[in-house]
Formats: sequence, structure tokens, C-alpha cells
Amino acid sequence: RVVYCANEFVPEEKARIGLFDRGFLFGDAAYEVTAVLGGRMIDNDLHLARFARSLTELSIPLPMPLDRIVEIQRELIARNNLMEGAVYLQVSRGEADREFLYAADLTPTFVAFTQAKALRDTKAQRNGVAVDIAPDPRWARRDIKTAMLLGQVMAKREARARGFDDVWFVENGTVTEGASSTAFIIPDDRRIVTRANSHATLPGCTRRALMRLCEAQGLVVEERSFSLAEAQSAVEAFQTSASSFVTPVVRIGETLLGGGEPGPLTRKLQAYYLDAAGIREAM
Ligand code: PLP
Repeated sequence: RVVYCANEFVPEEKARIGLFDRGFLFGDAAYEVTAVLGGRMIDNDLHLARFARSLTELSIPLPMPLDRIVEIQRELIARNNLMEGAVYLQVSRGEADREFLYAADLTPTFVAFTQAKALRDTKAQRNGVAVDIAPDPRWARRDIKTAMLLGQVMAKREARARGFDDVWFVENGTVTEGASSTAFIIPDDRRIVTRANSHATLPGCTRRALMRLCEAQGLVVEERSFSLAEAQSAVEAFQTSASSFVTPVVRIGETLLGGGEPGPLTRKLQAYYLDAAGIREAM
């Protein structure tokens, strides 16, 4: 695989990051993941806008203009012949001797790479997933997409050990989001509910794209908090992310939804999203 590291395209074996990089020592970095289908990036404008915002919130300068970043993404996709998978971007604050405080003139470290993987017609998308429930272990600025992901790493591992596919986080009785996805519930056949954006969750790009599609289809999406109890009594639920699109949730904790089968409205939303991505797959 060819990756982009320290201002050049290199084979992955040749890529090196310094020991004192603050991304490595402090998780002092922001990242983004854009899905690739048929060699084309999906919702990349939304991902780049969020990337710029994350960096602004962290006071890390954008290492280059966004249109140059797009060129690098495209070149990685071309050089690696990537048809389906993801492009990952990360900018860390840069290298400096280990101190919490940092000088204003650090040079950010920019890396980018592709990951080939099947995104469509996966087992999770066909059959739905079972999500565990865990107290949200993360910090109070989850709207910034930082490389500080240990809460998610631990929670996903525990959920897997308990026999679940994934995990939804709960705080003060309400669902915040999935460990790496936005949570949605369908309390009855007509309404779709997802939490409003705030510092408590990452503003999902797939969430935003799907909400635009819903609006165009005349479907109501309510942006409000919902309790775990409401989620468990919903007729359908699903989660969204760049690399999993719309994935049905068929069990929340010990509670089965829709008899453990993906529901009809979730199926429609999966199809709308793939249609909009320009690629229609029989589901
Ligand atoms: N919430 C969290 C915590 C995430 O890590 C992600 C994606 O990885 C999402 C939500 C979904 O965001 P997006 O649809 O932009 O991928």
C-alpha cells in the first residue's frame, strides 16, 4: 500500500512518525474517515468540513488547503486501485519535547492512507447488529473527532466479549450515540428520532446526509434525546457511520427489536442512502 506521510507518498513500510509526535504521546490529533465506493468518495465535503472544524477547535492549523487534501485522497485511491473501502486522514499538533503546554509554531504532522474493505451487503447490513449498553466513558467534547479513542476501544472489546456486535453509550438515562456511529430509533412506523447535535456527540456526516434524504422523501426526523427505555420499546432502530452506512440494530441489550429482524423503514433508508451514493445494490 502507498500512504501519505511527512509530505510524501511512500510505501507503508517506509512511513515514519517521530517518537515525540504529540499525536502519539497525547492523542493530540484529529482524524476523518471517508467511505469509497466504486472508487469515488462519499460525502467527502461533509467530512472535510468537519475535519477543518475539529482542527480549529483544537487550535491545530490545517496543514494545507482542503483542495490539496482532496488531491492527496484521490491520488491515494488511484495509486492503491481502491474501489471499495475508506480513506483515513489524520493531523496531529506535531513534534515537541513532552510537555502539556506547546509552542505556537509547531508543524502539524499530516498522514493519510486507504483501507480496502467490503462496505456493502455485509453481514451486519443484511442481518442487523446486536448492541450492548454501557455508560458513556468519554470526555465532554465528543463533537471533536480526536484520535483519543480509548473509551471506544475498551467498550467495543467488552461488548464483543459479552457476545454483542457493537455498543451504544448511555448518559443520564439517555442514549448519546454508538461507540463509532450515530444512533437512531423509530418509535412508531412514521417517525425517525436521533439526538440533536451538541458537545455530547460527534455530528455524524452520514447522519446529516441521511437527514437530507429523509427530508426529500417527506420523512420526519425528530432531533431530540431519547431514553434507553424508549429505544428498547422502539419498533426499529439503526446506526449510521461513514464506513457502515445505515446498519439495522435488531437487539439493544437483552431486548429484541422487530423480532430480531431489520424493519421495513430501516431497509428503505439503507436503499435511499446507497441510491444517493450512486450505487444501487439489491438488499
Ligand atoms: N459517532 C462516533 C463516536 C463516531 O466515531 C462516528 C464515526 O466514526 C460517528 C458517530 C458517525 O460519524 P460519520 O457518519 O461521520 O462517520
